Amino acid sequence: MFEFLKKLRRETPIEPVVEATETSGLDHLESANTMADVLPGVRHLAMNLSIRAPDHEIEPSLNNRSFGPQSRAFFHFRCKNVDCVDGGFDLQEDIQTAVTEGRNDLSGRRLCHGWRNAAMVGQQKCYFELNFKAHISYTDKA
Ligand SMILES: [Zn+2]
Repeated sequence: MFEFLKKLRRETPIEPVVEATETSGLDHLESANTMADVLPGVRHLAMNLSIRAPDHEIEPSLNNRSFGPQSRAFFHFRCKNVDCVDGGFDLQEDIQTAVTEGRNDLSGRRLCHGWRNAAMVGQQKCYFELNFKAHISYTDKA
C-alpha cells in the first residue's frame, strides 16, 4: 500500500489551484492517466456536484459525473462563475485518499479561491461554493 501511495504522488502531482486556468486544465486532462492506471481497483466512481454563488442569488448548478476504469482520473472541476479568474475546485487528493482508504462514500464542501472577476483581482475572492458527494465501488469487493 505504501508503494501504491508513492506511485500516486510521483505520477499525479497536485497542481496549485492558482495555475488551473482553462488552458492548463485541458493540458492536464490530455496527459492525465486513466482510472485503471491511477486508481486501480475502482470499478465505478459517481460524483454529484453542486456549485452555487456566495450570495445564493442564482440556482445552484448541479452536475453529475461518472467515471469508469477507462475514464481519465481527473478531478479538477471548473468554477461556475463565468468571470472567475484562476479559480476551480481540485478534488484530486480527496478522491485518491478515499480510494487508498477503500472508502465507498465521500462528501465535502469547498470554496473557490479564484478572483471574482478580472477587475477584482487582488481584492475580492470568488467564493463560489462547491458541495460534492462521491460514491466509489471497487472491483474486488461485493
Ligand atoms: Zn471561482
